[in-house]
Amino acid sequence: MLSGWRDVTARRPWRISAKLLIISSIVTVMGFSAICVNVMLDMRRGEEALARQTLENLATSIDADISRNIEIYDLSLKAVAGNMLLPEINAVSKTIRHLILFDHATTAKHFGAIQVFDAEGRLTIDASTLDPLPENRGDEDYFRVHRDNPGAGLFISRPMLFRGTYSIVLSRRISDTDGGFLGVVAGSIRFSYFHELFERLNLDPEDTITVLKRDRTIMMRRPFDLDIIGRSLGTRQDWKSENLQVGGSYAGKGPVDATPRLYVRSSGTNPLFVVAGKPLSAVFALWQREALRIGAVVLLLALFLLGSAIGLAREIGRRAEAESKLEEMATTDALTGLKNRRKFDQVIDSEWRRAIRQKTPVALLMIDADHFKAYNDTFGHQAGDQVLVGIAICISDSVSRAGDCAARYGGEEFAVLLPNTSATDAFKVAEAIRGKVQGWSDDQTTSTVSCGIASLVPAIGMDWSILVAAADKALYAAKAGGRNQSVVASLPKLSLAA
Ligand code: GH3
Ligand code: MG
Ligand code: MG
Repeated sequence: MLSGWRDVTARRPWRISAKLLIISSIVTVMGFSAICVNVMLDMRRGEEALARQTLENLATSIDADISRNIEIYDLSLKAVAGNMLLPEINAVSKTIRHLILFDHATTAKHFGAIQVFDAEGRLTIDASTLDPLPENRGDEDYFRVHRDNPGAGLFISRPMLFRGTYSIVLSRRISDTDGGFLGVVAGSIRFSYFHELFERLNLDPEDTITVLKRDRTIMMRRPFDLDIIGRSLGTRQDWKSENLQVGGSYAGKGPVDATPRLYVRSSGTNPLFVVAGKPLSAVFALWQREALRIGAVVLLLALFLLGSAIGLAREIGRRAEAESKLEEMATTDALTGLKNRRKFDQVIDSEWRRAIRQKTPVALLMIDADHFKAYNDTFGHQAGDQVLVGIAICISDSVSRAGDCAARYGGEEFAVLLPNTSATDAFKVAEAIRGKVQGWSDDQTTSTVSCGIASLVPAIGMDWSILVAAADKALYAAKAGGRNQSVVASLPKLSLAA
């Protein structure tokens, strides 16, 4: 009997298992999701770093190409400015002078012809012709800069129409040996150079290449838009200078359109610098696809896991419920609703051991219906059953403490275990029950019960059957004494018997 009881209780932790299952599934899903998010963010950072590197390489190689050409052209300008000081230069023929002043580098495809202006801005020598038409450039920026500033060095103009084509003008001052202003030598690099340079690159339509001067004037841009060329960024917020340090990058809106891009500045320190831009949507396109795919799979797995956990938890709950019902059924007397004999034996066993430990008394009432056989014979078995139910109610009503256990001991016999109760108190309970049964019966079918009471403080080694036997003995005494009465067992004798 006891082993059966332990089997039932052993399965109780299943209820905890259902919650544990749900919690562990949620923790697993959360942990798994956190790992996925972390991996995806890492992937995103990787994509961004790769794009930044590619853009920096692109910007730096364009920067290097432009700078090399400017340097070549500048060498020619320097040579002209130096050779103009030769005393013989005005003595030789125009043809020889051209051969002395201009090398062949300046006749390259996208380079404009070099021109020399005197101190008043008048065109004196033109590499493209021996007899240039008169013109005066005294008002141009590139002339005034050199006239007013001996240390201007190589001056790169804003983009402008120069000899009928959009160009940037490169100029140098011609100074005499004392630093006096003798004029300006100027040449140009046509926009066609930039167009051809950009066409050589394999770029997406939304990618941008912007060539800027140190003073943040836009010299050239791809996609090409004449309205933007020559515009100065000045202190505009879009591309704050601190956002675009040498070799630096910036993600956000640019100065021209609203498309958010990753912009990277070339790493050189040349007079012109290059900013390469790629839309963020393109930078992260692959990552977004991957993230969506991985996210969808993880979501499905998480839902599946949680769904399975909920399903299992419900099943566990159903089983636990069924078990507790079975347990209830296994410990309850079907007719009276009191505990059955099996349960009573378990309770008395554990209470007995507790009482030994705590040295407290345990009281037992054995209650038996009087002349019940006769009652059955007179009123029938079913009426007898009703009386048993009635007696059970009277017992339940009189027994209210938490540790008390009222059980149907067998047939028309009941047992009430009262832990930590003296014989006197137990006797009061017994009398209460007896009184209730008597009072509850109607006049014609008076039912009564007899009670045997025993209470003792068990010692180590004592068996609880002693208590049952003592209460039984008292019950017989009550029967013998005329029934409908309560009799307390003699305790000193019991202790001796133990
Ligand atoms: P006493 O006063 O000496 O206890 O007399 P009694 O007739 O009650 O004693 P006895 O042990 O001779 O008879 C018990 C009767 O209780 C026998 C049986 O018919 C009846 N009984 C036992 N279990 C049940 C039950 O579940 N339902 C009904 N209706 N009667 C029961
Ligand atoms: Mg009996
Ligand atoms: Mg009886």
